Amino acid sequence: MPTILSHPAVPLALGVGFGPKAVPRPLLIAGIVASALPDLDVIAFRLGIPYSAALGHRGFSHSLGLAAVVALGGAWALRKALRKARSPLPAAFGFLFLSMASHGLLDAFTTGGRGIALLWPFTEQRFFWPLQVIRVSPLSLSKLLSLRGQTVLLSEALWVWLPSTALALGLWTLRRGRLLPVGPRLDPTRPSLPSPPDQPRGNP
Ligand SMILES: [Zn+2]
Repeated sequence: MPTILSHPAVPLALGVGFGPKAVPRPLLIAGIVASALPDLDVIAFRLGIPYSAALGHRGFSHSLGLAAVVALGGAWALRKALRKARSPLPAAFGFLFLSMASHGLLDAFTTGGRGIALLWPFTEQRFFWPLQVIRVSPLSLSKLLSLRGQTVLLSEALWVWLPSTALALGLWTLRRGRLLPVGPRLDPTRPSLPSPPDQPRGNP
């Protein structure tokens, strides 16, 4: 896995890109939590559940199906805050789904461990992308602080944070150019500025 420090890069990029009107603060926080949630499954090691089992690490918890269920529940739980912020429920679902689904999709780029059960419950097959470039993170904090840990963080800066920053900048640019449906809009309740009077014409 990328470290728990790097999975939030995706919801942060989407939050910055789409802006606070589309992604209000409670939704952004929920997205950050959702992006790290799948790795709670490391408890499976302590419970003696085999790595390769559906309930094991990188199993059902990393699937797109569970991401959809959690996103649905999360959007529903936040419905009052979303209504207050005038943020539509389907957009919040999409944001939470992308936040959590990105975890497994990023893990599939890592250089170690077993693959990801992305399509559970339809299949328990574990998947990797053909390109595995993100150095797999050690599970313990002490190893993360070692030299190997620094290599992992550098790899994540290159393959997670850099593309996420590019995504945020791209979305932000589109939003400022009003090319996204969430871009800044004129408030219809405010009168528009009067148009400047015609310039007086000089004598011919
Ligand atoms: Zn993971």
